[in-house]
Amino acid sequence: MGRRTRMRFVRPPPSNFYFPRDIDNSLKDKSVILTIAEFEAMRLKHYRNLPQGEGEHGQKTCSGTMGVSQPTFSRILDKAHQKVTQALVEGKNILISGGNIEVKEIFNGYGCLNCGAEWKDELASKNRKISCPNCKSEKTYHLIKEPL
Ligand SMILES: [Zn+2]
Repeated sequence: MGRRTRMRFVRPPPSNFYFPRDIDNSLKDKSVILTIAEFEAMRLKHYRNLPQGEGEHGQKTCSGTMGVSQPTFSRILDKAHQKVTQALVEGKNILISGGNIEVKEIFNGYGCLNCGAEWKDELASKNRKISCPNCKSEKTYHLIKEPL
């Protein structure tokens, strides 16, 4: 029960979120799949309209909210734009990896720039660098995702 009270329900996630294990291959072929970080980058920049880099007087910024450097944020946003553009040009669905659990509570963890893996870590912080459990790359970044 303790776990349930910790969940922060804001509203249900968009229906284009999916559980990775549920997606079938025919849908996959017709879809472009954004990572949580890519979706979050677009949401902060173009939906919440946060400044990308320097915020005035402690104002929230895109990169600060995600806990990444500004160049890293730019790379994630570029990748998101490329995928969304591809979906528009090729007429594909846009799906976001992740599921109900991830978007209903704060996601604290890391992402990997090398292989795109994203994983939770309760103790994750900007100052604690760890290597990717998937590909062993050191190019990892702190990833915080707040509820929608
Ligand atoms: Zn990796």
